[in-house]
Amino acid sequence: MRDIAPGALKPSAPKINLRRPDVMEAVQAQVLSHYQSGLVDRIRAQGQLASADGLLTIKLAKEFGFCYGVERAIDLAYAARKVFPNQPIYILGEIIHNPEVNDQIRAMGIKSISGKEKNADVEDLKEGDVVIIPAFGTEVATRARLEQKGCVFVDTTCGDVMSVWKRVRQYSRDQVTSIIHGKAWHEETKATSSQTGSGHYLVVFTLAETDYVCDYILNGGSKEAFLEKFKGAFSNGFDPEVHLKTIGVANQTTMLRGETEEVQRRLKQAMIGKYGSENVQQHFRFFDTICGATQDRQDALEKLLAQPLDLLLVIGGYNSSNTSHLAEMGQAKLPTYFIKNAAKMVSDRQIVHYNLDKHQEVTSDQWLPQGKISVGITAGASCPNNLIEDTIRRLFTLRGVEVSEALSDQVV
Ligand code: SF4
Repeated sequence: MRDIAPGALKPSAPKINLRRPDVMEAVQAQVLSHYQSGLVDRIRAQGQLASADGLLTIKLAKEFGFCYGVERAIDLAYAARKVFPNQPIYILGEIIHNPEVNDQIRAMGIKSISGKEKNADVEDLKEGDVVIIPAFGTEVATRARLEQKGCVFVDTTCGDVMSVWKRVRQYSRDQVTSIIHGKAWHEETKATSSQTGSGHYLVVFTLAETDYVCDYILNGGSKEAFLEKFKGAFSNGFDPEVHLKTIGVANQTTMLRGETEEVQRRLKQAMIGKYGSENVQQHFRFFDTICGATQDRQDALEKLLAQPLDLLLVIGGYNSSNTSHLAEMGQAKLPTYFIKNAAKMVSDRQIVHYNLDKHQEVTSDQWLPQGKISVGITAGASCPNNLIEDTIRRLFTLRGVEVSEALSDQVV
């Protein structure tokens, strides 16, 4: 196997350093030209607030947009293209969950070997071909298959995701079943599940699913019904009668903090009910593996939602887990529109936005109230600032005011 990450190579692998100063200088310039926003920087500098003519006030959450893991993944993908200008480069699925960013990656000639936009096949890969592993990591078996082919990896897996892997590997070593709070179909959770190796795991997504598991722990039930309910979300050979006696909870890094805490609280209560509080430590473990960036964005949104707002715009890819949770938080409090770009604001009367329950875009009318309004804006960890700028500009245009009127001359 050959790995090229920030210098991290197996001893036998040739040293190819992607983070050379000349490469990174060019990469930074290119990344900035694609994704930065002077407007967003100015609004940040004037206290996250922009108000024009008393007609429209926008309030940005204190933390939003690209996280450190996403920035690193994008930098490494761009660096790979610079270091291997003429060689085919492949990526496992999407570098991050944002369609515009993924379009840019494709435009650089990087081909996808899995996922919805797949345009190359693993079978096409040869020894020495460069494969980018995205920020969410990849499954152990997929990596092993590519290693066998002699592919060279640019591994952009986020350190926070690897921390979760460390936890579930430890659970497996200790013969503890990992209960992973996450989406069984999400790349990160698939990768995490695969890290349990010969150990066992079960993925729970909702509190209702958690309650089902708790009820089974306490009262037993039909094994067949259990396995049918969680089809595709447990390890090979998982038997709820055997493998729910000692459990450890971990979570996908981008879940809602409050929900993850509730999942672990309910499971712990079930274990106390079954084995007694004096024995719970032998049967239950928990590590909070929500990443700092997700947490910061959720905390910042909570603060923003405590202010008077007429509506909230959440910008990001519809398959982005952390962005969906921001939208969930918003819609619990006020009219919230989850959009992937500014074009979704069709007019001041009509908006096309993602409905989390229907898992599809829907159209809403009369979304922008008349009179003076305050609009909250946030964006997921995979959303670049240029898309946030487009949204702000569009909003001011729809309101019939110039965004420049909302900018302080004091701020440069
Ligand atoms: S959302 Fe968290 S885990 Fe995912 S890339 Fe960003 S920092 Fe890493």
